[in-house]
Amino acid sequence: MARTIFEKSRAGRRGYRFSGEPAPAPSGIPDSYLRKQAAGLPEVSEPEVMRHYVALSTLNHHVDKDLYPLGSCTMKYNPKLNEDVAAIKGFAGLHPEQRDDDTQGALEVIHLLEEKLCAITGMDRFTLSAAAGAHGELLGMLLAKKYFVDRKQNRRKVLVPDSAHGTNPASAHLVGFQNQALPSGENGEVDLDVLNRNLDDETAVFMLTVPNTLGIFESRIGEIIELVHAKGALCYLDGANLNALLGWARPGDMGFDIIHVNLHKTFSTPHGGGGPGSGPVGVKEALAPLLPEPRVRRENGRYVLAADGAESVGAIHSFYGNFGIYLRALSYIIRHGGDGLRRISAAANLNANYVAHALDGLYPIPHGKRCMHEFVASGEPFKKYGVRTLDIAKRLMDFGFHAPTVYFPLIVPEALMIEPTETESKETLDRFIDAMRQIAKEAAENPELLQTAPHNTPVRRLDEVTANRKPILTAPLEDSTG
Ligand SMILES: *Cc1c(COP(=O)(O)O)cnc(C)c1O
Repeated sequence: MARTIFEKSRAGRRGYRFSGEPAPAPSGIPDSYLRKQAAGLPEVSEPEVMRHYVALSTLNHHVDKDLYPLGSCTMKYNPKLNEDVAAIKGFAGLHPEQRDDDTQGALEVIHLLEEKLCAITGMDRFTLSAAAGAHGELLGMLLAKKYFVDRKQNRRKVLVPDSAHGTNPASAHLVGFQNQALPSGENGEVDLDVLNRNLDDETAVFMLTVPNTLGIFESRIGEIIELVHAKGALCYLDGANLNALLGWARPGDMGFDIIHVNLHKTFSTPHGGGGPGSGPVGVKEALAPLLPEPRVRRENGRYVLAADGAESVGAIHSFYGNFGIYLRALSYIIRHGGDGLRRISAAANLNANYVAHALDGLYPIPHGKRCMHEFVASGEPFKKYGVRTLDIAKRLMDFGFHAPTVYFPLIVPEALMIEPTETESKETLDRFIDAMRQIAKEAAENPELLQTAPHNTPVRRLDEVTANRKPILTAPLEDSTG
């Protein structure tokens, strides 16, 4: 177990020593504010500090260390160039209260990124103000609600396939819609008969993920959207993971009315760890007047932040969302260009199919032998040895990989959702495949090895239920000073 920096402390040890007399105590500060005892800082040398933090940074798995085969989430390695762009002083030092005259460059970034997202997705207008995918969904539902209220239509229902991300029904519910889950067809796609039976003139929105969470493209997307539109309802695309489609197919052309994309999945910003995100929302012209404010507009050769639309749903974020994420996304899009974006999705899809093909047989893939950017395999065959998907995921950590998403989507038993992403090399994918094959062998020969995994990580198997119910968020000082 790693020691805390307080345990490494030795009285009198210093990183830097200054010559001359120590500075005199400052005068004029009331005595009650002055410290009576030393601050209790750890006393360590410079190399000890460096090594301490480098060691800490390797205790957890992270994307700079090795693969995250984390389906749906797209925890992918992104070019560091985009981090450099986000750190450019003029951008990093911006204050949100600065005047438009002072922030023309920043406003141009927002305007340009909105335009690029329109071009990539085929939507008419974009707003960047939602701070995450789920926030984008919430905004999308607010837009749909206002759209029908303005038209004096009482539509209360939102239809969501049972393979959807959990945030979809949650967002619809928050806005006051009634959710209806639609069972997927045998092939994992939308069942048109089921959709048809559930569509009525109370249906406001059909929320769909394409490719869906099984990594399957909806082969009848044109018919689906026609059916929904024929009933006067809107089609919503959850485009959190757009890296299956980039440059090949556009949701706007398919007929979607509202979509959200996750900049912190497809477009460079690392996802996870609770850091800032961005879930831009794109709409067709009919919904554009409802978009939140303020908006960036170009007037007489300059950019302005304007809020004057009487029809807008209002503000959904302070100022204009998470600006640092926009810089990374714009840098990513411009650096790759149109052809580069096409190559990204081609590689994402190829990598997923390569792994799926190599593992099929050992880990059955119930839906879709040809997948898009991700696939969902099942750990079902290992149950006869007393090994569950959770054990397989834990064992993967011993091989230096992060675990994939497990037990989601719910329609695949013992689900293992795998998405290698476009940034991984064939050698990395082969190492991952070898590890998965080795684990399948171990499950039959030595199931206990899996049931007690991980063995090589700094922390062994945790009691996850207790950790969730009774998290210990602060360590008592006695523990850390030892
Ligand atoms: C990640 C994800 C979301 C939610 O996005 P957040 O930014 O985590 O709120 C929604 N739908 C799908 C398909 C996703 O993968």
